[in-house]
Amino acid sequence: MRWSKTLIPTIKEIPQDAEIASHQLMLRAGLIRKLSGGLYTFLPLGLKALRKIERIVREEMDRAGAIEILMPALQPREIWERTGRYATLRDTMFKILDRQNRHLVLGPTHEEVVTDLVAHEINSYRQLPKTFYQIQVKFRDEIRPRFGLMRAKEFVMKDAYSFDTSWEGVEKSYQAMYNAYVRIFERVGLRTKAVEADSGAMGGSASHEFMVLAESGEDGIVECGDCAYAANTERAERKLAAAASPEPPPAARVATPNSRTIEEIAAFLKVKPEMLIKTLIYVVKGQPVAVCIPGHRELNEHKLARALGADVQMADDATVEKATGAPLGFAGPVGLTIPVYADAELASGQASIAGANAADTHLLNVRFGRDAQVAAWHDLVICREHDLCPRCGQPMREKRGIEVGHVFKLGVKYSQALDAMYLDEAGNRQTLIMGCYGIGVTRTLQAVIEQSHDANGIVWPASVAPFEVAVLPLNVNHAETMRVAEELVAALEAQGLAVLMDDRDERPGFKFKDADLIGFPVRAVVSERSLAEGKIEIKQRTATDKKMVPLAEAAGLIAGLIREA
Ligand code: ATP
Ligand code: MG
Repeated sequence: MRWSKTLIPTIKEIPQDAEIASHQLMLRAGLIRKLSGGLYTFLPLGLKALRKIERIVREEMDRAGAIEILMPALQPREIWERTGRYATLRDTMFKILDRQNRHLVLGPTHEEVVTDLVAHEINSYRQLPKTFYQIQVKFRDEIRPRFGLMRAKEFVMKDAYSFDTSWEGVEKSYQAMYNAYVRIFERVGLRTKAVEADSGAMGGSASHEFMVLAESGEDGIVECGDCAYAANTERAERKLAAAASPEPPPAARVATPNSRTIEEIAAFLKVKPEMLIKTLIYVVKGQPVAVCIPGHRELNEHKLARALGADVQMADDATVEKATGAPLGFAGPVGLTIPVYADAELASGQASIAGANAADTHLLNVRFGRDAQVAAWHDLVICREHDLCPRCGQPMREKRGIEVGHVFKLGVKYSQALDAMYLDEAGNRQTLIMGCYGIGVTRTLQAVIEQSHDANGIVWPASVAPFEVAVLPLNVNHAETMRVAEELVAALEAQGLAVLMDDRDERPGFKFKDADLIGFPVRAVVSERSLAEGKIEIKQRTATDKKMVPLAEAAGLIAGLIREA
């Protein structure tokens, strides 16, 4: 391919509205262009890289025995109502009316559609197990689309769904997908870490996310420095240091005028936030409950929902005032008539200052069990750096990650709702047990760049590079230079390599900069000076040194370098 015959609009300046390196580089290297917020056009180079990732994903899905299908993006609202997800995903879904006023949605995921398919097409244990997959566009009305392809409104996902007759079967299907994911991310040149993820009602290690560690990641991860434990902070648990404080003197009221937030109260009373009990009012199954956590920690709503076995919602101001009998900011566990759930760390008694459920007042020396009754103790907070590993008790580290893949044991939620049954050996009707597995293909593409770039531009792994080699004839008006460059391109293509010839009539420095920006794994320069010696100059993107090699050997040498990479 010749540069002049395609569209590669590189940009020198850093685009204003791109915050992270990979987003800036995708724009600067001419891989994508923004149509509007969260919507992007793939230009030729971006599309080539995307297709290479898709191909690797497809090969590994096929190798794992998954069956490719393609489901519609446009779906009737009705199947979403049958699983109850029209209510829970309503705001995320783009909703459409057709000319007959029928309600449709643009699929944010495909559990409903695939389960409906299987409900109709599979009926015997003889046809099972089966895993179906597709590589397809998803639509999500994200609250904050940002970082380019990382969080888009329209993006490409590989989604797969397994159907089994037993839990042992699900485990096997899950492992097969997990292993395929490990291979896929390895092949696209990404270093990923599989972490335990929140699995809603399923519990256990029913879900793992594949994370690319990066400062710009939107997910928090904690990992143990000692054992293999690693989890999304949404999910992570912690071991508590066993240190019970001595019984305090009787609780006493203290005036805290206008001090409502943890910071304000801590400053006013001149104590550390750790000394405070943070009391939050939530609504669970229509009823208010109080949730107490240490003042310096954040509530993990996923854990609260799991502990209470129900959806949880922060109470509105009126509900808080009614439940506590006090203005906002003075809630505490003492004397409440609603159930109090407390984080297990509070059992140590270290935190002992709480709202008094009265305006401008707090209580000192509050002791759970003595002054306030607890309905149940749970692990309710978001894990942080230095928390102790739940497995081995060693301090954990906190990192940031980009979620590129997610594997999930689903159970029977969708098969039950959509009647996906099969006949077992004894002729009894049984419910199918499902798993689901997603890779953000477009997000993966950008994650590769986020993880692999330098000050000059992208550093593509050869497996996903849009072109493996750039051939740069320095003087395009010199006939011999062009003849040799074309010969080299042909020889490289004969080796099975994808080659781009920069045939623009530009200064050498300009071409070098663009080649580095785009990040071709190998750059081959044909100049009048090198030709005088019967040689060309080659440089790997990752190397600092250049090599002069004889013309006749160049193609074979470059092919060798690419194979090694
Ligand atoms: P996130 O927590 O980042 O919003 P998710 O957990 O909602 O993602 P899944 O439903 O697990 O996403 O989707 C599978 C994969 O699709 C994710 O692992 C991610 O790689 C990708 N993905 C999800 N949302 C987006 C998006 N808005 N833009 C690009 N890729 C996305
Ligand atoms: Mg996910």
